[in-house]
Amino acid sequence: MFKPVSPKLDVTEMENTILKYWKEQEIFKKTGLERSGKPEYVFYEGPPTANGKPGVHHVEARAFKDMFPRYKIMRGFHVSRRGGWDTHGLPVEIEIEKKHGFTNKQQIEDYGIAKFNEECRKSVFDYIQDWEKLTDRIAFWVDLKEAYVTYTNDYIESVWWILKNFWEKGLLYQGYKVVPYCPRCGTPLSDHEVAQGYAEAKDPSVFVRLPLVDVPNTSLLIWTTTPWTLPGNVAVAAHPDVDYVTIERELPEGGKERLIIAKLLLEKVFGDEQVNIIETFKGKKLDHFQYQPLFTFMPPDKPAHFVVMGDFVTTEDGTGLVHMAPAFGAEDMQAAIKYDLPILMTVDADGTFKPEITPWKGQFVKDADPFILKDLQARGLLFRSEIFTHTYPFCWRCDTPLLYYARGTWYIRTSQVKDRLVEINRNNINWVPAHVKEGRFGNWLENNIDWALGRERFWGTPLPVWECKECKHQECIGSVAELSQKTGQDQSELDLHRPYVDDIQWSCPECDSPMLRVPELIDVWFYSGSMPVAQLHYPFENQELFKNQFPADYICEAVDQTRGWFYSLHAISTMLFDSESYKNVVCLGLVLDRDGQKMSKSRGTAVDPWDILNVSGADAFRWYFYTSGPPHAERRFSPDLVTEIVRSFTLTLWNVYSFFVTYANLDNPVVKENFQPDNELDKWLLSTLNVLVRDVTRAYEEYDVTGATRPIEAFVEN
Ligand SMILES: [Zn+2]
Ligand SMILES: [Zn+2]
Repeated sequence: MFKPVSPKLDVTEMENTILKYWKEQEIFKKTGLERSGKPEYVFYEGPPTANGKPGVHHVEARAFKDMFPRYKIMRGFHVSRRGGWDTHGLPVEIEIEKKHGFTNKQQIEDYGIAKFNEECRKSVFDYIQDWEKLTDRIAFWVDLKEAYVTYTNDYIESVWWILKNFWEKGLLYQGYKVVPYCPRCGTPLSDHEVAQGYAEAKDPSVFVRLPLVDVPNTSLLIWTTTPWTLPGNVAVAAHPDVDYVTIERELPEGGKERLIIAKLLLEKVFGDEQVNIIETFKGKKLDHFQYQPLFTFMPPDKPAHFVVMGDFVTTEDGTGLVHMAPAFGAEDMQAAIKYDLPILMTVDADGTFKPEITPWKGQFVKDADPFILKDLQARGLLFRSEIFTHTYPFCWRCDTPLLYYARGTWYIRTSQVKDRLVEINRNNINWVPAHVKEGRFGNWLENNIDWALGRERFWGTPLPVWECKECKHQECIGSVAELSQKTGQDQSELDLHRPYVDDIQWSCPECDSPMLRVPELIDVWFYSGSMPVAQLHYPFENQELFKNQFPADYICEAVDQTRGWFYSLHAISTMLFDSESYKNVVCLGLVLDRDGQKMSKSRGTAVDPWDILNVSGADAFRWYFYTSGPPHAERRFSPDLVTEIVRSFTLTLWNVYSFFVTYANLDNPVVKENFQPDNELDKWLLSTLNVLVRDVTRAYEEYDVTGATRPIEAFVEN
């Protein structure tokens, strides 16, 4: 007899009964115990931050994260899948800043770093119960009891060990470079953070005259979209081999003027206007031509305001003459080094003009743009000014427009291992979808630049470099034991966060002056990328376990992590072990609202996952993600898509089963093993079933999600 079932199915009640059974019988734990000693299958959890409620896209990620480990358990593997929580960095700090209404760093220092950091520490688990409850309900099997937490001393110590390793290999260095910088957060950002924050922006597009000193009535014409950098101008770059022209034009107010621009850009700049070409020549003729400075707020301490030669000058936009402000542009800085130009730092760390820039001192530089243009206009130097729309980088955390800004900061020399980054990705990592390998991720690696590591913030892993106050001798610390040895005191109880770690000092071995820690923290992406090592407190503990659990067989996150976690994992393991840190990676697409827009709480288009779970259950919710498109597809989500799955798939399956039970019990059949059917229809059914098993297994092995799920749906419907 089969257990009779009601033809009416309550999916949520059924799921809750199963969840209860799993919990009571500790099924998840048993899947680990029963497979101990079996071949290992390793999943790494990209750690979410639990300081906000989980949304629909978290259900998406967790459904896909669960899929392959669950399959591998069924195939007889021992699967390690430890949870993790990201607990440091700006996302956390910004929530606390909001709570207190802080708008800048000084307010945090006045409030007290110890108190501020304590609140950060507490807040990171504000929503942990929401996360645990959701994780349970959607049946994502991951070990949250043993989850790694990035703020623990053990985790930080492992990160220090990695940094010390890089220090000894000469991969950790301090440089004065132009970096993308968030003036509100008061910290530089890494290249991969910048890549996550591009948005459309309206900015001025202006053409400015720079009158030549030795050629009367003739000006260089330059173009810029950042007028606020003009007070920092020290040179103009021209391409030595490009054709330039001197043109003569009528001035609207009467009289004539002569302007120099690249020949190819004549039409773009002057359009239909009639201009006379006076002379055509190669850019090299302009080398060292002097022009009158636009502003004289900061007198340069070296020769400046002349034309330099640059291969980076193009004739795609502008005038072919590039305004150079070395404090605010990477190419400008290169030219400054080559030509020994002065660097005029006109802007303070908070993004406002310095006092020397008298008319606009204290003003946020981008807000000063219109006033700068007015000033140029009044002096007859503004040729044309328009507003144009382009993509501009914004801070990924606080939406402030970033400034490119020269600062001394710390770097990881990833460019030195670029070839290995590329090769290891090419040879050892399986990407789903495949095109990401050479496309989005491969291109990113090909264009690798050094990793800007330093963050001038409060709540995070301190950079373990100490520097002598006097002679600037530096030491990098790789463990708590080393710190104890340096200071001659047991530091094992020390909280490795600011401000406590900043109090640790010792005498410089070179000159006996105090050694102080440098002020920086490190990029959060660096320590989420350190998790293979740091989650096990390797190499201080778990040496054997680490060997068993590195690299991962499987990771899975949103596709934008090619510049986030996918990259930081890959860069760190390449530099540390010359190895990949994951073998298979599934990229997920965005979940949008039903109109194809980003879900937004303020517009009321955000869907609460519980509204789905309480009506349609977790299986249908997960099934929707598996079958509605390949993992990387963008999904336009609305709750009725999940109810539709319950109707068309779950209930069909249930009806078949309930029908079968009813009639089977009437017939009271004898159940035989190794049944050999005579009936044609039975033969067909068994054959179809075996084909299904074969195809689905094959698809699972190839990380083909739709291939492993859609045929099951088709089978049930047939
Ligand atoms: Zn910011
Ligand atoms: Zn010293």
